Amino acid sequence: MAISPVERELAIRLAAQSWLGAQRAQGVEYWTQRALEEFMFAGEKLPLMDRQRGIRKPAGMAAALSIRTVYRREGAERPYEDGLGVDGLLRYKWRGSDPDHAENRALRSAMTLRLPLIWFYGFAEGLYAANYPVYLLAEEQEHQQFVVALGEDQRMVDVGQEADPAIRAYVERMTRQRLHQPAFRAGVMRAYTSKCAICSFRHANLLDAAHITADAHAEGDPVTSNGLALCKIHHGAYDENILGIRPDLTVHVREDILGEIDGPMLRYGIQEHHNRALMVVPTSQRDRPDAVRLKRRYEAFLAAH
Ligand SMILES: [Zn+2]
Repeated sequence: MAISPVERELAIRLAAQSWLGAQRAQGVEYWTQRALEEFMFAGEKLPLMDRQRGIRKPAGMAAALSIRTVYRREGAERPYEDGLGVDGLLRYKWRGSDPDHAENRALRSAMTLRLPLIWFYGFAEGLYAANYPVYLLAEEQEHQQFVVALGEDQRMVDVGQEADPAIRAYVERMTRQRLHQPAFRAGVMRAYTSKCAICSFRHANLLDAAHITADAHAEGDPVTSNGLALCKIHHGAYDENILGIRPDLTVHVREDILGEIDGPMLRYGIQEHHNRALMVVPTSQRDRPDAVRLKRRYEAFLAAH
């Protein structure tokens, strides 16, 4: 049975999402341009990212398939920080000021046809995290920008409507989190070679990119030096103040926990790490946990008991 062009466009996007998802399940957290050229659809290679342009629209397709944001060193202006609207949703600026620029038309088609996009976000030289599905919900011509939904549920938000402050705060928080999380996680996993900092456990599916300064905090920036790769148990233990990490990168297990008697998880997984150094620390100085953040967090740990 023949499928319509729009169905084909949707099928390609769903196949691309599953392709990325299958790799994620295998512990792949980020991609190079070259790796993204390996995607195949209907027996043919279909690169997911454009080599030159910020937007990928394969020949024969009506709409943009992916958006790319290149890596900028910290401090440099980040072009994706286009700001949030009164509805809490992200805005994505046109390419240039011409509404008929080919890239703007490709984006507009994705919006009109309600097709999901993939957002590749550079977090280090030549390395990209993937954010998907992303939708363009509306266009604000007077501001030369599109309204973006990060995830399926944001498609339900009333575009341009000033929401109840509590709802808006919630949508904004989700927007910032979803915007930053894939690149934050990719950067942290790369820095810790996908191993838990405390125990060196290395199954990516059971690893989290933990924040030192919480992401809800004004200073909880999504940078690698504010992160630690931690397995689920150690992430939970860190957040529950069962253990702390000193600024000298040694582990401090809470006193009452040290006195408990239980099974091997408690003994080998927690107690034996007391006073021991982190087993995995990033080799690059700029990726290492920030000493000031660690100190503040460690003081909060000490104050909690
Ligand atoms: Zn661990």
